[in-house]
Amino acid sequence: MVRIGVPIRKLTHWNIEFRRRVRTRKDLERKISLSPAEIEFFDRLEASQNKAVQEQAARESGSGTTGVPGGIIPLAVPNYYLSLLGSDPADPLRLQCIPRVEEWEAGPLETEDPLGDRMYSPVSRLVHRYRDRALLLVTDQCVMNCRFCFRRHFVGKTQGTIRQSELDHVIDYLKTHPEVKELILSGGDPLSLSDERLFAIVDTLRFHRPGIVLRVSSRLPVVLPSRITRRFAYQMRSRQPFWFVLHVNHPRELAPEADLALKRLADAGVPLLSQTVLLRGVNDDVQTLEELFRSLTARRVKPYYLFHADLARGTSHFRVPLERGMDLVRGLKSRLSSLALPGYALDLPGGGGKVSLMDSPPMREEEGEWIFLSPEGQEYRYPKE
Ligand SMILES: *Cc1c(COP(=O)(O)O)cnc(C)c1O
Ligand code: SF4
Repeated sequence: MVRIGVPIRKLTHWNIEFRRRVRTRKDLERKISLSPAEIEFFDRLEASQNKAVQEQAARESGSGTTGVPGGIIPLAVPNYYLSLLGSDPADPLRLQCIPRVEEWEAGPLETEDPLGDRMYSPVSRLVHRYRDRALLLVTDQCVMNCRFCFRRHFVGKTQGTIRQSELDHVIDYLKTHPEVKELILSGGDPLSLSDERLFAIVDTLRFHRPGIVLRVSSRLPVVLPSRITRRFAYQMRSRQPFWFVLHVNHPRELAPEADLALKRLADAGVPLLSQTVLLRGVNDDVQTLEELFRSLTARRVKPYYLFHADLARGTSHFRVPLERGMDLVRGLKSRLSSLALPGYALDLPGGGGKVSLMDSPPMREEEGEWIFLSPEGQEYRYPKE
């Protein structure tokens, strides 16, 4: 069997960038000057870390806490992405990567696992929610930690890359569940692994489940474009059917470096899709979304999903009311071709699954909440504001 966990032998360019990404307040303050809301975030973080350290000392237990409280994901931004930011604290790219004090506020109904991933996990790392497809959490690491991330119970924590024993269990499961025809490699960002590790995992999966259709979701073409080497693109091509799903939220993320990364993938023959999260202050207007989806189409990326934001703890400042999201998408529908228009979807909180908001809008409202009927016929709630 192919071994995973092969150490990185040679430092490549992207790897150096990866290691030098900004991860501390001190380092960040050397590059940009922080706004009051950003400073306040770090002040509170430091206060809570001091408290955690004191409590730990009092208990004298070595439980190995990271010092980052649950629900708060650590800072991580590559210098490349920082170079794209405007100086305005409300810059749409800046909002996505620099934390603000609002992250400390948990809104009503917000949780750390809004999609109920854990409910549908038959074996560690695997989420099997829909009959014919499953999601594999390959690693909890991302190169950039997005401040609105909904997988905060997992991202940037301590589980690391999937272990051989975990992969063995996943393979046993997939072998006894032939109804799973598609596997989505996600995380974290699977491309934060080296080619050796990532493709060793892919090859192991394919060896045991030949013909399974693979997807990989990644943000790296826009946050660390140098990751997409020509060699990477050809390795993906040689393992087809293998779809690349780009997570991109703003047209300015499609800078020339990102264009080159996408061109490499498309030229190698890798099919490209995109997913976007609808985020307040980032992309919640028709012009920005129209430009984003047109730019993607021009770069041979088919806009696949526009996601309504999930109820992740500390992300209410990013959420757009559902009614407004539906208005935006109606506006887009009258302007864009079906090729350029993604599906607008919401993951029903608590494991209700994805619903297409344009095809199955909420049934009714009740006490400030929208009531949805899941495909299985159960009722789910989502706050109106
Ligand atoms: C979104 C998702 C999928 C894939 O769904 P598609 O609509 O086919 O893109 C699979 N599994 C889980 C758990 C998901 O959240
Ligand atoms: S790349 Fe995806 S998984 Fe990673 S922090 Fe951003 S949204 Fe979360």
